[in-house]
Amino acid sequence: MNSTVDRSPRSTQQWQAADAAHFLHPFTDFKALAGKGSRIITRADNIYLWDSDGHKILDAMSGLWCVNVGYGQRALIDAAARQMGELPFYNAFFQTATPPAIELAELLSEVTPPQFQHVFFSGSGSEGNDTVVRMVRRYWDILGQPDRQVIISRHNAYHGSTMAGASLGGMAGMHAQGGLPIPGIVHIQQPHWWEHGRELGLDREGFGLMAAGWLEQKILELGADKVAAFIGEPVQGAGGVIVPPDSYWPEIQRICDKYGILLVSDEVICGFGRTGHWFGCERFGARPDLMTFAKGVTSGYVPLGGVMVGDRIARVLIDQGGDFNHGYTYSGHPVACAVAVANIRLIQQLKLVEHVHDDVGPYLAQQFAALAGHPLVGEVQTCGLMAALQLVKDKSKGTPFSSELEMGMVCRGHCFGNGLIMRAVGDRMIIAPPLVITRAQIDEMMALVRRCLDLSLADAQRQGWMG
Ligand SMILES: *Cc1c(COP(=O)(O)O)cnc(C)c1O
Repeated sequence: MNSTVDRSPRSTQQWQAADAAHFLHPFTDFKALAGKGSRIITRADNIYLWDSDGHKILDAMSGLWCVNVGYGQRALIDAAARQMGELPFYNAFFQTATPPAIELAELLSEVTPPQFQHVFFSGSGSEGNDTVVRMVRRYWDILGQPDRQVIISRHNAYHGSTMAGASLGGMAGMHAQGGLPIPGIVHIQQPHWWEHGRELGLDREGFGLMAAGWLEQKILELGADKVAAFIGEPVQGAGGVIVPPDSYWPEIQRICDKYGILLVSDEVICGFGRTGHWFGCERFGARPDLMTFAKGVTSGYVPLGGVMVGDRIARVLIDQGGDFNHGYTYSGHPVACAVAVANIRLIQQLKLVEHVHDDVGPYLAQQFAALAGHPLVGEVQTCGLMAALQLVKDKSKGTPFSSELEMGMVCRGHCFGNGLIMRAVGDRMIIAPPLVITRAQIDEMMALVRRCLDLSLADAQRQGWMG
């Protein structure tokens, strides 16, 4: 067989040239990246990555918020290989099922809050949120209230990148391309105290109640009989690790209950131990009717997503719904489900949720709190194994840098150069390391974070950007 694809090991430049010639990356300025060249990641172990030049990098973002059990876990690798050999694929459309999909459905019912006894599988978080839209509208149809169509979400939320996912999300840059959001999706302001509460002179908890109140205002404005559901991430991830005040979610729950509106918790990042609880809604005191999951369900080893369906909705769909005309070729993919089962059992065996809750979560919080004294840091937030640092020009007044300086990107550049993956969302530096991280590794990570902050500060001072 002739092939034009070269299979011999290549140099970094050769990889970069082929990448630039053929691979359109997600959320990327194609021309700018082609000019610069991608970093080629070739292998990984535990919390570390290696690039094609042999540099070792501490992955403080768990890939893309997903590699919760760390890289190189034998149990997941073996589960995939075993399942591929036995039955690489069969669908769940033709009144059939496969053992891994059934086992995973059962296991998910066990580890999720008690109202969840059913699951609908998808291939990703975005698809899971498409399912959410289909399902909540179908629910109200079946109940004879087809006018209940509108789903309320928040600005600066992230719910994926399909038409429905990007519409549910509140990213202005995404809505600006392709005529989004689709009809029937509206947004309220996010519970981001640093952005929206500070200048009002409110304390965090007072602001949390106010931010939840925006939901009630929106419901009254639209008419409760038009509103199907509210969706939110327990902690906004891609928006910049925005940890809501503790008062927020219980008040959201109260408002949803008052108007009979469905509550959807997008647990794609917060699920499977990230917050120090199995699911973020448990940390924040909400009882959702639907939960979207993906990422951490397989620790990213293979793609899988889905929606946990609470009894309130499941009973209606099952008892009165007839056919639900929705599903994906890979709903319940046996290899993905086998890996998810192995992943969840490993989380249980290693007691990773307890590890985050009792040990490394509080330790990370303590270490990050100590950064609050750094001249560049205006606000520090942590929740379980997620953390954010707000970079500011003037610490005493909390003045932001002007956005064209791209201070976050300056800092991210130093992280890249010093073997640390930390992400910049505007001027908010964020991390979400693998849940298997140890205290000693947190120390190692914090030394890199400090070094990168110091280098960024030196840059800003040299340029005259501070104060
Ligand atoms: C990543 C993410 C999604 C989308 O998941 P994909 O698998 O990328 O489609 C949805 N919701 C949240 C909260 C996410 O972080």
